[in-house]
Amino acid sequence: MKTLIANGTVVNSDGEQRADVLIEDGRVARVGPDLAAEGAKVVDARGCFVLPGFVDTHTHFDLDLGFTKTADDFITGSKAALLGGTTTVLDFATQEPGGTLAQALETWHQKARGSSCNYGFHMAIARFDEATEAELPAMSAAGVTSYKMYMVYHGLRMDDGSIYAALKAVAKQNALLGAHCENWDVLLRMVGEVRARGITGPEGHPLSRPSAVEAEAVARLMRIAELAGTPVYVVHLSTKEGLLEAQRARSRGQEVYLETCPQYLLLTDERYRGAGGAKFVMSPPLRKQEDCDALWRGLAEGDIDFIGTDHCSFTMAQKARGKDDFSLTPNGSAGVQHRGELLCTYGVRAGRITLPRMVELLSHNPARLFGMEGRGKVAEGYAADLAVWDPAASYCITDENPAHACDNSPYAGFEIEGRARDVFVNGAHAVENFALAKPGMGKYICRKGCIHTR
Ligand SMILES: [Zn+2]
Repeated sequence: MKTLIANGTVVNSDGEQRADVLIEDGRVARVGPDLAAEGAKVVDARGCFVLPGFVDTHTHFDLDLGFTKTADDFITGSKAALLGGTTTVLDFATQEPGGTLAQALETWHQKARGSSCNYGFHMAIARFDEATEAELPAMSAAGVTSYKMYMVYHGLRMDDGSIYAALKAVAKQNALLGAHCENWDVLLRMVGEVRARGITGPEGHPLSRPSAVEAEAVARLMRIAELAGTPVYVVHLSTKEGLLEAQRARSRGQEVYLETCPQYLLLTDERYRGAGGAKFVMSPPLRKQEDCDALWRGLAEGDIDFIGTDHCSFTMAQKARGKDDFSLTPNGSAGVQHRGELLCTYGVRAGRITLPRMVELLSHNPARLFGMEGRGKVAEGYAADLAVWDPAASYCITDENPAHACDNSPYAGFEIEGRARDVFVNGAHAVENFALAKPGMGKYICRKGCIHTR
């Protein structure tokens, strides 16, 4: 089965060219002008860009918080991802405090069955002891080459010594460890202080977790990695102050990778005021405009390496758990469908970044850094994970029109210019003319190490 994507402009991180793309047996067989179409199904990409499918480095599908579960599972979440041009997600398999990494990996493999986009797993470590360390080689063999530790949350929070030891053990596997950076002890006290002032609504959420709560934890993580002598990455960086701490570590010669999310580029803490503020309760919280501006600069100047969504969706009914106490609100919001559209509209079209830079942030960098061999590029021999991107397609995001399974979007009201018209996953024509045509075509991406790009 051959498919020819004809008359489009192919965009990679190093530039763009007018070229056809021939897909054969799930791979890109040829890229070049005026390719012969004999026996091939032809998809006309005139006026469109042909991009490598995007990699979302941060999703939480089918996550059980104990008192409730995310609205999206892999079936619904992966469809939303695909419709936005994301062909691979890296979700977080999470160790139970009393369980093993192998059990967590098996559980997430079961959850991901039937996914419409490709998927891989970061492993979130909840207990770092000798037994956990002894499992790391088996994780590498099973295609898990990145790990996460939380500096927050009951049952997940790691002490500094565990982070130090895990950084060293993970680096021996040529894998990479990232951390959720917030100071848990201080923010718990601040939650109490905010409630004592009589503030119970969602506006209390950012007051209890100000910028320095993140920046302190980033600074501490940087120093722990310095002592361990290993690379490290920061998940969902949200502040200017946190970025400065990471830059300080780099100036000492440390190898540091940074992820941010669209919500920290496009939304501010003013959203917590008034009805509906619970929709935006996520951690870290939304920040100030100056933080958004600093992160955009970080994207343009090469300081930030990739962008995840932290898609962790809840319905407004689920969010209402925190109506009398903001700290009881399930943390997280939806966004897996809209990352490319938002980056294109508010990054590329607004003149903040170029289209090749967008491809670098969404496809090329994460595929390389996280060891996805043969992906993240439109090139001969690479997997045919592709998005035919129509720059003229426009619409407005609402609470109702996304494909995800919850009844709200933090981006409702955002105008979009540029979206995925057709999407190919492993060569299968999965999205045709903005609609899902072939669900369930996703495969597990068994990753191989990390390619250190800094
Ligand atoms: Zn997350």
